[in-house]
Amino acid sequence: MNIKREKISPDNFFFQCSNCGNSQKISINNLIIKELPLLLDVDSPKLEEAYKRGHLKFYQNRFITALQFRKSVAKIEAGTMVCFSNKIHIIRGFPKIRRTLMLKEALESYFQGEVAVEEKMNGYNVRMAFLDNKIIAFTRGGYVCPYTTKKASEIMDLTDFFCDYPDLVICGEMLGTENPYVAHYYPEIGKLGFRIFDIREKITGKPLSIKKKNYLLKKYNLPPVRLFGLYTLSDAPVKILELVKNLGENGREGVVIKDPCMKIPPLKYTSSQAHADELIYAFKFPFDLGQSFFFSRVIREGFQSFEMNESTDEMRKRAQRLGESILYPMVETIKNIRANQVAGEDLVMEADSQEEVEEFLRYLRELGVVAVVLKYENGKAVIRKMHQSTTDKINNFLNGGLY
Ligand code: ATP
Ligand code: MG
Repeated sequence: MNIKREKISPDNFFFQCSNCGNSQKISINNLIIKELPLLLDVDSPKLEEAYKRGHLKFYQNRFITALQFRKSVAKIEAGTMVCFSNKIHIIRGFPKIRRTLMLKEALESYFQGEVAVEEKMNGYNVRMAFLDNKIIAFTRGGYVCPYTTKKASEIMDLTDFFCDYPDLVICGEMLGTENPYVAHYYPEIGKLGFRIFDIREKITGKPLSIKKKNYLLKKYNLPPVRLFGLYTLSDAPVKILELVKNLGENGREGVVIKDPCMKIPPLKYTSSQAHADELIYAFKFPFDLGQSFFFSRVIREGFQSFEMNESTDEMRKRAQRLGESILYPMVETIKNIRANQVAGEDLVMEADSQEEVEEFLRYLRELGVVAVVLKYENGKAVIRKMHQSTTDKINNFLNGGLY
């Protein structure tokens, strides 16, 4: 389909069907009242209300023209995109994964029979979909990331897969030290890599079973996350505690526990070291991230220590790790700000041109992230994301401001 760009406005736009060549006028009103309720199985008043409140928004950039679910509406997840292409393609948002605090009790009451345990990789969530013969990368909120769209296709060849399965969506994690969202080192990944954890249907978001997913990934030579194994519900808790201890000691995040048929939504469980790493990150920027990160990580640590039945010595080590991950980064930041620096996070990304870096920054601005380019040379850019509240508040307190 070719969208006649000059006619596009948030309320009405035209598109030309590539099959019949006819030009059609789409009005958002009509879509919300007629087509979308049927496609999504949501009442039209709910969609109308969401559109009025800005939870459902018109979205357009050089890749797509779409409606974006900024917030969840009825059972439709935030991050869902209704894309206007040769037909309407719906890419469902990636669902939230709930967390277990007590493995033994939670797994028994939540799953049935067996569970598949996969590694949880620490990067950022990406959905890859095929639209208008192009492979597009959506980040969690549904935004099309220009950097990810380019890099994911360089890292893996999805063409054959999407030619055979245009109505499936590849869900995975972009990983490595040179990614501009979540930089984390994995020896097998290095600078940039991708691991696939789910294959889902467009429109319904329904995931394939673990077996079918891994069969297809193997067939098309695509990179899966590690599957540690299938365990009975009685074996799983002990096995997972052992696995997660090991993963943590190797600087890795944890596991996602899945129903092999994927009929029951997965659960996640993470290592103490992952909690500490997140606290270190949050308390580098205490007034931007500290509060929202803090409580939940401490709670996870409490239950994990209890379920692991730790010795006094093991618990002391955990307490020390927890305390250090809060205090050390904060004091470091206070020192830096005293030395007239700003609170910022430097990330490295590969880019073929300055224009590519600029486009990425414009994209971040759209997400409300303030970032600047510190340098660009030899195909690499260093960008700094600013954490303004931390800089301002710490400066204020350093000058005697009251808390
Ligand atoms: P939520 O999913 O609850 O919104 P979040 O955005 O804070 O949480 P995480 O705590 O990192 O994210 O946990 C969920 C995310 O883990 C998924 O969205 C996905 O990106 C990532 N992930 C990594 N490995 C896997 C895996 N094997 N299976 C499913 N998700 C995985
Ligand atoms: Mg994550």
